[in-house]
Amino acid sequence: MKSIHLLDSDTINKIAAGEVVERPSSVIKELVENAIDAKASAITIEIKEGGIAMMRVTDNGGGIDRDDIKTAFVRHATSKIETAMDLMTVGSLGFRGEALSSIASVSQIELITKVHRELLGVRYCIDGGEEKSCDDIGCPDGTTIIVRNLFYNTPARRKFLKTAATEAAYINDLAGRLALSHPDVSFKFINNNQNRLHTSGNGNLRDIIYQIYGRDVAGQLLEVDVEGKLCHVTGFIGKPILSRGNRTWENYFINGRYIKSNIITKAIEDAYKTFVMIHKYPFTAFHIEVDPALIDVNVHPRKMELRFNQNEAVYQEIYDIVRAVLEHRELIPAISLKD
Ligand code: ADP
Ligand code: MG
Repeated sequence: MKSIHLLDSDTINKIAAGEVVERPSSVIKELVENAIDAKASAITIEIKEGGIAMMRVTDNGGGIDRDDIKTAFVRHATSKIETAMDLMTVGSLGFRGEALSSIASVSQIELITKVHRELLGVRYCIDGGEEKSCDDIGCPDGTTIIVRNLFYNTPARRKFLKTAATEAAYINDLAGRLALSHPDVSFKFINNNQNRLHTSGNGNLRDIIYQIYGRDVAGQLLEVDVEGKLCHVTGFIGKPILSRGNRTWENYFINGRYIKSNIITKAIEDAYKTFVMIHKYPFTAFHIEVDPALIDVNVHPRKMELRFNQNEAVYQEIYDIVRAVLEHRELIPAISLKD
């Protein structure tokens, strides 16, 4: 056996990348979350060949200061938290400072960014984590990140990718959910030069649902607006008639974050139980606002899971709210039931 030694940073980054970047859709999720954190009001996602050949995310957010660009690609470099205490109150989607370094270590990146107060922006290229160039460039305010040849230097990973069509379908699905998670941001998704999604960003969730799912879904919604003991829940749930044979229409967002939570899923499905047939799952698209101190989003590097410190109470509250809306019952305090 060899002696114990520290891994070099390239190896560390590749190992970490395995956790953050599973497939093209995980790259898109991280880049869009960064754009949202940068207060963008318009975000465009463009992909070629399921994202494997090329992914481009363009935002009109705050941009990255030229002095910060190189640091942004260093592992654990973040502008979003300072100490572990901040995790209790973190309001941004990112905080681990791992995405850019991870993505950069397994792809070829071109970053173009400009902050408002500067006249010129910067174009920074980095291949497999190694800097290639850094030049001034004329460009609009905001950030564009182009990721090419994902996993070109980790063939074992690349082999596990599905077909371009399947990877594109994952991204299409994700783009819709990201748009629902931030109705006040205009989202565009372009796959192989074809427009797949364009939301207005007018802040109206029902409009976004219409733009993504069409009239048949948008016409069968029940509105939810309840201030519970733990959470404030707003948005829509589908009438039972909208149920389908899989869970792809179950959307919910916690503090603006698209996540999966067994507790919330179970609360929703239990509430629908007597309204839908077995193995049918409802349409939902609602936002849960909760005190950040009551949740832990730092469960996994991909930040797709979330822990509540009061599982039972959260389950009961979401169950009661969904149930009351389905039964057209008034829940105390006020609940609005427009459909
Ligand atoms: P995290 O989001 O956890 O902070 P990332 O690796 O995703 O870590 O990003 C590192 C840093 O780079 C961020 O903290 C942010 O300051 C900056 N950054 C990344 N993407 C953008 C963007 N689109 N606009 C502005 N700043 C960005
Ligand atoms: Mg991030």
